[in-house]
Amino acid sequence: AKSLTIGLIPADGIGREVIPAARQVLEALSSDIMPARLNFVDLDAGFEYFQKHGVALPEQTLAALKGDCDGALFGAVSSPSHKVAGYSSPIVGLRKQMDLYANVRPVISGAAATASGQKRAIDMLIIRENTECLYIKEEELHEGADGKYAIAKRRISEFASRRAGEMAFSMALQRDLMRQKVAASERTWKGRPKVTIVHKSNVLSVTDGLWRETVRGVYAGNAKYREGVDVEEQLVDSMVYRMFREPQAFDVVVAPNMYGDIISDGAAALVGSLGLVPSANVGDRFVVGEPVHGSAPDIAGQNIANPIAAIRSAAMLLERTGYASAALAIYRAVDKVLEAGQTKTPDLGGKSTTSEVTEAVCRLL
Ligand code: NAD
Ligand code: MN
Repeated sequence: AKSLTIGLIPADGIGREVIPAARQVLEALSSDIMPARLNFVDLDAGFEYFQKHGVALPEQTLAALKGDCDGALFGAVSSPSHKVAGYSSPIVGLRKQMDLYANVRPVISGAAATASGQKRAIDMLIIRENTECLYIKEEELHEGADGKYAIAKRRISEFASRRAGEMAFSMALQRDLMRQKVAASERTWKGRPKVTIVHKSNVLSVTDGLWRETVRGVYAGNAKYREGVDVEEQLVDSMVYRMFREPQAFDVVVAPNMYGDIISDGAAALVGSLGLVPSANVGDRFVVGEPVHGSAPDIAGQNIANPIAAIRSAAMLLERTGYASAALAIYRAVDKVLEAGQTKTPDLGGKSTTSEVTEAVCRLL
């Protein structure tokens, strides 16, 4: 029989609660919807691991991912806000080392909202460039005549921008194909596929200028994209404004690393909680599912973190490794639990625990 080997990297804080929850859901899939046998490999990384062992992303973890795993699930890390000598965020490192060049972040308000005719039904797909921008972390501290000043380098390359652009336009077409299988009345997005390119090239004309030109070039250079997809641009500040006023106006949104990070958390607020929004770090050869949220130290260790973002991230991992029907079963089970509205963690106004929500999802599989 076929098998799928998944590396599990819970890392810090609520990562240690939501990754086991996601595993529990994967294990609850029956063999008729999940034809491959699932193997799990527990892997270390994170700030707590760094404090004990002096390294945040151990070589063994990278080696196991590259050698044994078909994909992985990452929880969250607690990166301190001050500089710690020798420490560097393992998820940022992992994305770079495994060449996971796009972070795909679907933000949806769910079937329930659409069915009730809610105006602000949201069905956005944010594509965040995942390897450069300010996240190259080349910072310098200087001593000037007026005191200290700091400089951060921001890298934007044609190569990375092109790959992010390709991902955005091809996903826009793919989403359209999938939508056509759904009854018109059930569709959240009714128009032609659209990609919104986010930038700030009115100020950063060199870096964001290159990003904008390159992503536009991907569109201009491909007849399939020009025929099937509309394209528009938004300066990042007005992007945020418009997203809060009319989130239903966005389909696929493609952004440089930092803008994409910030827009995603804002979009998560629009659909109710960071605890709902999954992502997949995608490369040509590997995929790492990862909830959009962080390690949430304010609620860690209490069994009240919302596991849905991690559970949906596990489904994205299955979708990208060739098990679309198993992924769909998980998406549906999660939607049903949300629609029923009885089993909700506190971030959604409920009183249920992480375990109760996880079990409710499992019961529907
Ligand atoms: P956060 O995403 O951890 O939390 C923001 C708020 O959302 C908190 O109030 C938290 O309780 C809530 N929240 C987040 N996930 C939730 C869930 N699943 N269920 C219920 N509520 C949830 O962001 P933060 O507080 O700014 O950062 C905390 C730590 O996480 C920092 O050390 C930061 O560096 C790290 N972080 C890591 C990642 C990552 O691993 N990719 C991403 C963002 C932040
Ligand atoms: Mn973030």
